Amino acid sequence: MYRFLLGVACLAASLAVGLPAVREHFPPVQIEAREAKVRLYLHATGEIIELPMEEYLVGVVAAEMPASFPQEALKAQAVAARTYIVRRMAKNAGDGLHPGADVCDDPRHGQAWISREEMRARWGPLGYYQYYYRVRRAVEETRGMVITYRGQLIDPVYHASCGGRGTEDAAAVWAAGAPYLMGVPCPFCADPEPVRTVYLSLEEVNRALGVELKAVPVAGGGSPDLLQVVERTPAGRPRAVRLGDKVLPATAVREKLGLRSADFRFALKNGRVEVTTRGYGHAVGMCQYGARGLAEHGYTFDQIIKHYYTGVEITKME
Ligand SMILES: [Zn+2]
Ligand SMILES: [Zn+2]
Repeated sequence: MYRFLLGVACLAASLAVGLPAVREHFPPVQIEAREAKVRLYLHATGEIIELPMEEYLVGVVAAEMPASFPQEALKAQAVAARTYIVRRMAKNAGDGLHPGADVCDDPRHGQAWISREEMRARWGPLGYYQYYYRVRRAVEETRGMVITYRGQLIDPVYHASCGGRGTEDAAAVWAAGAPYLMGVPCPFCADPEPVRTVYLSLEEVNRALGVELKAVPVAGGGSPDLLQVVERTPAGRPRAVRLGDKVLPATAVREKLGLRSADFRFALKNGRVEVTTRGYGHAVGMCQYGARGLAEHGYTFDQIIKHYYTGVEITKME
């Protein structure tokens, strides 16, 4: 662990010397003060546990990616997960939601984490034997490795599946973009079921979105579609949509209706709203099913990372 601290210190020092223009830096003293243990808030019990970085990462990779994925995909996930927590601790951002913790186990607040007991329950005794060691190997074989862009740790966002459409510029999805979060093709996206359909009542949609859609399209109104795409993202997903007389960001529609992605279509079917989505997640950064596909086609974890995060390096902290 001491060598880890030293590594962060070196990284910070090289930043300070080599790149005077960087906006953030990573003061080593803050990490040292906490002995580089991760203070993890557990939602189920409300307690904060301390555990070594690499042990924390095994629980994250196990929670965030199916352990049956190829080893190189698991390794890419391990490096992304390590980058996330090291960046968070180096910035001393803490966990505003859970005082005294660096991070929690809820994916909505950061990244998911499961205990060994949960792994056993999830995989069964035989699965546990097989999968735990695969995940642990992915973490060990990438020990100390983090993703940097121009010497800075990146925000290593990832999502389950881009649905084969390719990933999205962060700036097209969120208020702020990043030069390393640019849309890229996802040539071997391995999501077995990218397109899903759900049915919602008109009342549900109207209530959630504050619109007044009617079961019968207005006569002579032209398009019978419930939804018109006003603007598209660079990758071709809806960015702004018109529903009735309202124009809404696609991401807001996704959130308010709890859809799998913002890559959606609406149609009226027998008085209900048929919502068809493609992919799962925000579509920015690494596509996990895409990482699986690349690994199955012989890509190594560093090639996978460099595919999804534009212009980055993999830096070893030791
Ligand atoms: Zn939380
Ligand atoms: Zn993909």
